[in-house]
Amino acid sequence: MKKTIRDFDLNNKKVIIRVDFNVPIKDGVITDDNRIRESLKTIEYALDNNAKVILLSHLGRIKTEEDKLNNTLEPVAFRLSELLDKEVIFVDTTRGDILDETINNMKSGEIVLIENTRYEDLDGKKESGNDPELGKYWASLGDIFINDAFGTSHRAHASNVGIASNLPNGVGFLIEKELDNLEKAINNPERPFSVILGGSKVSDKIGVIENLVKIADHILIGGGMAFTFLKASGLPIGSSLLDEENIDFCKKMLNEHSDKIILPIDVICSKDIEKEDIARECFISDIKDDEIGLDIGHASIEVFKDVLSESKTIVWNGPVGMFEKEAYASGTKSLCELLSKLDATTIIGGGDTASAAINFGYKEKFTHISTGGGASLELLEGKELPGITIIDNK
Ligand code: ADP
Ligand code: MG
Repeated sequence: MKKTIRDFDLNNKKVIIRVDFNVPIKDGVITDDNRIRESLKTIEYALDNNAKVILLSHLGRIKTEEDKLNNTLEPVAFRLSELLDKEVIFVDTTRGDILDETINNMKSGEIVLIENTRYEDLDGKKESGNDPELGKYWASLGDIFINDAFGTSHRAHASNVGIASNLPNGVGFLIEKELDNLEKAINNPERPFSVILGGSKVSDKIGVIENLVKIADHILIGGGMAFTFLKASGLPIGSSLLDEENIDFCKKMLNEHSDKIILPIDVICSKDIEKEDIARECFISDIKDDEIGLDIGHASIEVFKDVLSESKTIVWNGPVGMFEKEAYASGTKSLCELLSKLDATTIIGGGDTASAAINFGYKEKFTHISTGGGASLELLEGKELPGITIIDNK
């Protein structure tokens, strides 16, 4: 078990919290503040416990001076201030006298947001390369370090691993919740344990398949990646997405785990992705050479439903169709609806799957929707996340 923010006396302490404020910003306006909201619990807990709260986050990528202008955290400071109904002191630099002085003058219950950590990437990738001096410097600004940026925890950066190496540390409420849900599901699932895998490419998900096939009772495959499996099992797939290089991998999986892997039996397909009005439903064996499979069909949903209805834990990574288009969204929508009604632990790990579920109105209907696409994928692959491994155990 990792130490958490609750394991520290925060009174009068300078608490550095690494949050994930990597929000979409268009023309200076935040278009989705979900990540800021997700971090509020930890920030409010620190404020309530009389800490001096120092926040660090990255935003976008910084490769040129110009990138700095488009990726300042200043709009985030405004939004955070609104959400907390409290002043947020924004320091428009990542190091130096002004920052040091601002922090030295902080009173308990105050909050400082430091400029985008990736400004430090311009001069030799100091943040993303986990430059030891930078981690040490940032650590010198505080007494305690709390990592609550789950979305970057699969990377070893100065603002997570670097600081944690130099200060007493723990995780915040968001990372604690992510670990509670994702780790429990794969380390100690209530069974039957079913995994739904989708998305476009098999190659993106090889690590997940290899790890989960050992743990899960059932693996249900949809999305673009299903067609490489279908091809590997000798079925026609028309002009559907094919990951040629991984046909052998799929054959191997199907041979070794034929009892676990379940493939779609029908599809929604179209001759032209853009011409949604000509989409039709057919069995896999009836797909024509010039047709592209873009969603799983109703009969497949019924097959999946039989398995899922009996399951006690369900982990879902990857939409089962090209859900961004209405004509190919019904498989993914039907699964959202089905899972929302089940008496089971239901978990979504995967950035696009999460946005599909949230956009279709199911945000509150799952046990857990992970906030970290890449990080949750690496957890499902059974990998260690450096930003979490570095945190002390209890
Ligand atoms: P996640 O981010 O949840 O891990 P992925 O990034 O692996 O998911 O996959 C998401 C993408 O897969 C979506 O953009 C979706 O349009 C695409 N996709 C799903 N099914 C198909 C399909 N049959 N053909 C082409 N693309 C598909
Ligand atoms: Mg994705």
